[in-house]
Amino acid sequence: MDKDVLKEIELCDECGVCINVCPIYEVTGKELFTPISRIKAAEKVFKGNIPSEAVELMYNCPECGRCEEVCPNEVKITKIVEVARNRLIKKGFVFDAHKRIAKWIVELGNSVGKEPEKRLEWLPEEFKEKESNTLLYLGCLPSYLIKNIAKTTYTVLKRAEVDFMILEDEGCCGVYLYDAGMVELAEEVFTKNAERFEKIGVEKIITPCAGCYRCFKRYYPRVLGKTDFEVYHVVEVIDELVRDKKLSLKKKEMHFTYHDPCRLGRKEGLYEEPRRILRECVEIAELKENRDMGMCCGAGAGIRSIYRDLSMEVAAKLLNSAQSNIITSCPFCTFNLNYAAKKKGIDKEVKYITELLVD
Ligand code: SF4
Ligand code: SF4
Repeated sequence: MDKDVLKEIELCDECGVCINVCPIYEVTGKELFTPISRIKAAEKVFKGNIPSEAVELMYNCPECGRCEEVCPNEVKITKIVEVARNRLIKKGFVFDAHKRIAKWIVELGNSVGKEPEKRLEWLPEEFKEKESNTLLYLGCLPSYLIKNIAKTTYTVLKRAEVDFMILEDEGCCGVYLYDAGMVELAEEVFTKNAERFEKIGVEKIITPCAGCYRCFKRYYPRVLGKTDFEVYHVVEVIDELVRDKKLSLKKKEMHFTYHDPCRLGRKEGLYEEPRRILRECVEIAELKENRDMGMCCGAGAGIRSIYRDLSMEVAAKLLNSAQSNIITSCPFCTFNLNYAAKKKGIDKEVKYITELLVD
């Protein structure tokens, strides 16, 4: 793996094309925080000579992938950062915040430090055990911190008569561990979840969380070799339901600006699905930078729990560039953007897509 990454590093000819699209460089103006500096620091990490700034450089990157979109040599910068993080973890570097979150995931089954027995507080009806080969996996943020995402996702799918089950003790997908570089611990969580899914006959997972989506779809097969389930983000499911006329959406006199989450847009190409859904019911505008150059909300890949102020600066830039309230399809973006708006006194509200689809 290190050999592949070193080859990747060699592809960089320091042309500098990626510098001005990096949100961390944009908000700090520091040369130290360019993609090139990260690549150089990562190279030293792989060669065993870890410079003092390496930890910050590897962890204040939200792995948004904007640099990769413009790189003429197609250098996989986020891959380099990802592997370098794991190397740092193996060398014993680990942030207290990441340690704490990892402990919550292992001991409480969620990444937000909440009581497992309160997991289903969002559920609009009594929980009933149900068998289905489709699992609606809500994720930690929707289950605990933005319960309306869990509730409205559940309600929309029920209304469209989609057959699915939910779990009383869903647990955590483990995306946070993988993104933090704790790949070995992530593997334990992935294995436990995958074995459970197999045991209860899960063939298809639907999730409203862009983090869970990417984790189940990409990280699980990468770490475990294979998985026996298909993974869909809820926007893919709703888009198909609407197009098949199995779900009709009410028009609303509302106007929003759509924000492409990095993990759903740039990483997975889900650009048109949410837009088609939204055009059925509200007016939507675009951010100046959208789709493959969509802006970063500043919450990704564990940056928010370590560099909160920096994360909020990135979020504020996005908020200030929107002409209206924002709508998106990632709970992390929704949470971080609303948090930053409140803290920085920016008069913008951010909604998650399914919140608009129920009456
Ligand atoms: S992934 Fe995003 S934050 Fe990280 S170096 Fe590239 S552009 Fe900058
Ligand atoms: S655009 Fe690509 S080749 Fe140019 S400096 Fe950035 S990573 Fe290196």
